Amino acid sequence: MKALVYHGPGSKSLDDRPMPKLLSATDAIVKVTRTTICGTDLHILKGDVPTCEPGRILGHEGVGVIEQVGAAVSTFKPGDHVLISCITSCGKCDYCRRGMYSHCTTGGWILGNKIDGTQAEYVRIPHAETSLYPIPAGADEDALVMLSDILPTGFECGVLNGKVQPGSTVAIVGSGPIGLAALLTAQFYAPAQIIMIDRDANRLEVARTFGATACVNNASGDPVAEIKKLTGGIGVDCAIEAVGVPASFELCQSIIAPGGTIANVGVHGVKVDLHMESLWDRNITITTRLVDTVSTPMLLKTVRSGRLEAGKLITHHFALNDVLNAYETFAQAADTRALKVIIEA
Ligand SMILES: [Zn+2]
Ligand SMILES: [Zn+2]
Repeated sequence: MKALVYHGPGSKSLDDRPMPKLLSATDAIVKVTRTTICGTDLHILKGDVPTCEPGRILGHEGVGVIEQVGAAVSTFKPGDHVLISCITSCGKCDYCRRGMYSHCTTGGWILGNKIDGTQAEYVRIPHAETSLYPIPAGADEDALVMLSDILPTGFECGVLNGKVQPGSTVAIVGSGPIGLAALLTAQFYAPAQIIMIDRDANRLEVARTFGATACVNNASGDPVAEIKKLTGGIGVDCAIEAVGVPASFELCQSIIAPGGTIANVGVHGVKVDLHMESLWDRNITITTRLVDTVSTPMLLKTVRSGRLEAGKLITHHFALNDVLNAYETFAQAADTRALKVIIEA
């Protein structure tokens, strides 16, 4: 089968690989029909993710059709359409029993990281019963790919952890796919203001059409002063960090109002300063999280009903044979205006 393989920092290719086999009674083999590329895949290609070793098939998002199930899998059968979660969970360990699937002792984020992933014709999914979700007949499967990772990530790590509430003020630093996913799902709670911050004018334009009440371009000028001005001088109740670099986390610290919450979503590769000299008396909360995907069933319903327009995040389509082009397009987002690219296997 064809698969996109990581060969070490800066190196990847579309290779012929053997079909995956069932390794455990709780596994399923899924024929991938649609997958996508995540910003995290670009981090891996930069060499930022040491757990991902050369030879690994990348990808942790997608939908597909069950090809084969292990003897212990009773809720899925060959032919079933399924959504693949970026988080693998056993459902039985101490973390899973607490709903913290991201830290499952035999799962977590392993797909396209510690085991072969979804940018391939077929993928092996461990703990299939608790890591796959059934797709109802007639669903828009392109849109559902957004539920593998970015929508639950934006919602759980950003909106839920950030305690977005009716009438509250929200700033989202980073208007890429994850920031936009937070923007879409924040609106479940009707905050009074959602301010999007990015250096890319096109991405801010997209954010405006997705419901942002104000946009701040931090490529120039004084973004802190602009945000303070938009919030009557006090800052925001919730600052969502959706980039993963020191400057964006520091910006969150400069705009948070007393009593507010900074919800980190970004993947950080280097240390960040924490400004306790200005924050010690401000009653703020800082949260971090790896997505648990506990909200996936709920989000699936909102996408199915049209309440959450997940398909808006998709800008490009490619065939699996053209996956290198898809990476190029996704990596050059400032020029190509790419948000999420669908890869059809
Ligand atoms: Zn991802
Ligand atoms: Zn577990």
